[in-house]
Amino acid sequence: MTAPASALPVRQTPAADLLDSFSVGRHLRQLRKQHNLTLAQVSTATGMASSQLSMLENGKREAKVSQLHKLAQLYAVSLDTLTSGTPDRRTALEIELDRAMNSPLAQQRNLPQVRISPRMSTEVLEALVGLYREIEHQADQTAATPEEARRANVDLRAEMRARNNYFPELEAEAGKLLAKVDYHQGPLSQHAIGAITEHLGFTLHHVTDLPHSTRSVTDLDQMRIYLPQARNSDHDPRTVLLQALGHYVLGHRAPTNYGDFLRQRVETNYFAAALQMPESSTVLHLRTAKKNKQLAVEDLRDSFAVSYESAAHRMTNLLTHHLELPVHFLRVHESGTIYKAYENDGVCFPADHTGAIEGQPVCRFWTARQVFEVADQFNSFDSYTDTPSGTFWCTARVEHASGGDFATSLGVPYVHAKWFRGRITKYRDTSSCPDERCCRRPPERMARQWEKRAWPSARAHSHLLAALPPGAFPGVDEMAVYAFLEAHAED
Ligand SMILES: [Zn+2]
Repeated sequence: MTAPASALPVRQTPAADLLDSFSVGRHLRQLRKQHNLTLAQVSTATGMASSQLSMLENGKREAKVSQLHKLAQLYAVSLDTLTSGTPDRRTALEIELDRAMNSPLAQQRNLPQVRISPRMSTEVLEALVGLYREIEHQADQTAATPEEARRANVDLRAEMRARNNYFPELEAEAGKLLAKVDYHQGPLSQHAIGAITEHLGFTLHHVTDLPHSTRSVTDLDQMRIYLPQARNSDHDPRTVLLQALGHYVLGHRAPTNYGDFLRQRVETNYFAAALQMPESSTVLHLRTAKKNKQLAVEDLRDSFAVSYESAAHRMTNLLTHHLELPVHFLRVHESGTIYKAYENDGVCFPADHTGAIEGQPVCRFWTARQVFEVADQFNSFDSYTDTPSGTFWCTARVEHASGGDFATSLGVPYVHAKWFRGRITKYRDTSSCPDERCCRRPPERMARQWEKRAWPSARAHSHLLAALPPGAFPGVDEMAVYAFLEAHAED
């Protein structure tokens, strides 16, 4: 049979998968047709009943090896060919459709079934298989495999770098809102945040049963924002509220893929930071500090009553655009892996084959790792690091969160260190990473000593390997969210 011009490519099925009765049956029928034999003729030749043959061909019964032997002999093929040979196009389509209809995906969604019969036209088969492939593809996309999540992160970081991590349209939105509540300078007060909420028409509801997978839930129908009652040490409640408002102000729709979801998260984080550390006040603060050669993350943190991480991150938004300073930012877990990173100063981050840096180990000699070794947890740790891409000055601090200790560091190329308070420091390290001999490959003496005498048991990093739960909002249990909203709607 000739396939139509627009035909789908035949999907290669691994031989081992072909052993199920459906595909063996389809293959048997194909061979019988090729030999121009009727069921009755095969029955006579093999001594098997016609009804039995029919059931085998329809995949209703599993063939015994002895039966397969007889049939293989009759059709002059090897047993291997019978169970693993490449089926013709029509057969391949039938097999694929049968698999797709019985896949967990089809069952989860309760998709209607159709009986695959010889009378079904190849065109219909093509269409159904094509639809199933599309459904699978869509499911793969929303499931956000770690691979896709990594690629989406890489794309987004490239864009942030191209814009020096400065988003004027988000600064403008935040500025408009601040003007509405009569903000002039300094940190954004709790009172001002309340005024913003009210101005946008929302009411706040503090609850004890917020779904576990969420930080806040917004009821757009009744214009309510639900927040947790208990204070979560990881997240400043003001930030959580401003991020929830951000989704509304920025007109976000349910994300269509993982890249979309990430972008929205970056935008709302940016927006919340632009409200808590308004551009006008913050740039004034930074300019003055630079003029006095006293730039310091802690000062911005203390002036605007935000976390060290928020202050350091906000500096990446404004230092290049307004003060012509290229920067890099890192958030590193105590295990040494990167959680977040940004650079436009040429520092060379470790990366995997997709270019992703999340989850990659940071060089032991970098400030973001060295800071864990420092006893003084009150002052920031400042040091210079010579790397293959130049010398950088960095400042870092360790903060405790529920997932462990995290270092946040901000750095600049050597020539710009002079604007920062921490420029005078006795700490200096050399890193030759990504060369493995820098800090990843043990020295030869040590390797000889321990090579065959060490047996460490690895701790699984399940959070990096697991696919995120499917649904419009990756990682969020939609069922729990809807049930929660319904339970509270009548309050
Ligand atoms: Zn290293």
